[in-house]
Amino acid sequence: MKKIAIIGGGISGLYFANILNNQKQFEYKIFEKKDNYNFLEGYGIQLSVNSIKLLNSIGFKNVSASEISFPTKVNFIQANNSKKICEIDLTQFNDYTNRYTTLKRSTLLKFLFQNVPKEKIKFNSNITKVENSNGITISFGDNKNEKFDYLIVSDGIFSQTKSLIFNESIYPKYNLNVALRGKLKGDYGSDISIYMGSNSHYVIYPVNQNNEHNFVAIVKKKLSSDQLKNYDLFKSTEFLNSLVSGLQKTSQISFENLSELKSFPVYVSSDFPGYNKKNIFLSGDALFTFPPSFAQGASQSIETANDILKSILKGTNEFYQERIRSISSINNKSKLNHFSFHLSNPINIFIRNKILKYLSKNKKFLESYLGKIYRA
Ligand SMILES: Cc1cc2nc3c(=O)[nH]c(=O)nc-3n(C[C@H](O)[C@H](O)[C@H](O)COP(=O)(O)OP(=O)(O)OC[C@H]3O[C@@H](n4cnc5c(N)ncnc54)[C@H](O)[C@@H]3O)c2cc1C
Repeated sequence: MKKIAIIGGGISGLYFANILNNQKQFEYKIFEKKDNYNFLEGYGIQLSVNSIKLLNSIGFKNVSASEISFPTKVNFIQANNSKKICEIDLTQFNDYTNRYTTLKRSTLLKFLFQNVPKEKIKFNSNITKVENSNGITISFGDNKNEKFDYLIVSDGIFSQTKSLIFNESIYPKYNLNVALRGKLKGDYGSDISIYMGSNSHYVIYPVNQNNEHNFVAIVKKKLSSDQLKNYDLFKSTEFLNSLVSGLQKTSQISFENLSELKSFPVYVSSDFPGYNKKNIFLSGDALFTFPPSFAQGASQSIETANDILKSILKGTNEFYQERIRSISSINNKSKLNHFSFHLSNPINIFIRNKILKYLSKNKKFLESYLGKIYRA
């Protein structure tokens, strides 16, 4: 029986474990750095139909309907005057069983975790070395080591395993933006709304059927390397308040209703690790981290994990390589979204709004910009 090590039990690693449950020729073990999961966390996540299709095939459709939401459109709003510019109908990408979904990240993790036998996940893991000759040997902080046939590296954006494997320090780059997340009380409907401001944008969407909404803002901010290392800065009330007060207000949202605010610098990948290592696959943010303006990070993490298994089963890297090509194209779209959501010059805003209005109704454009990704 072939042995697979999964380093990092986040969305990608846990999903991979779930699909391995049906493959009796493999045994697997997940090595997770944290001591446990926090299933109470309330922040949200959007999942497009491409990942929902894969999740439904492992039983996600049985998650209680009250814990998820199915937005049917995305509203684009100019924040400074609260004017709605246009909307995109999300149902055109849905099919009978798979729908665009928003939920709490913790709901997704809970679902993925419940199907993993407890003995297959090792918390508090401290990996110190990965050697790739004559199989893959993983060494741990307690001087023990274990041998595997395959390694899935899914330890997220700051993947240390990647640096261990490639013998160099690989670190994502700060993309000059800070993310501000929180819960928003009040009735904000069942759609996704994107408020575009000057050098910032924010997104609101429901995370369940109980009128709970996720709020996430992306705010342009130059920070020094000392500030970036100062974790206390991002938690400080003064910094959080300065981010909120820097947002362009709209009459539609009461910012006083925001709670559980949390901020963090947004890091992105600058490149794909250019090496091919036999039987080692990178997945999720460890493979590539996007700017969060396309809401595709988690969906792509799930799709990549699926393509890795297909590659292992077929004994070729073709699915994995094809996924890397589509991630690269999604990254370009994420950057374009980010740029257009943050415009500040009134003439550019005027032109952007005209283009958005036109494109949001153009079926051909929507199919090639979104449909290709969502219907993958
Ligand atoms: C502001 C913001 C909003 C976002 N919104 C969306 C959205 O709406 N939709 C969407 O699809 N995506 C979204 N994303 C992206 C998405 O969250 C990520 O792409 C996704 O979580 C990546 O999954 P992952 O499994 O690669 O990493 P993670 O889910 O981060 O999991 C990594 C795991 O590895 C563990 N780990 C770390 N280091 C080690 C180590 N050395 N050894 C062992 N374990 C380790 C961690 O504890 C963690 O459990 C957003 C991102 C941001 C920043």
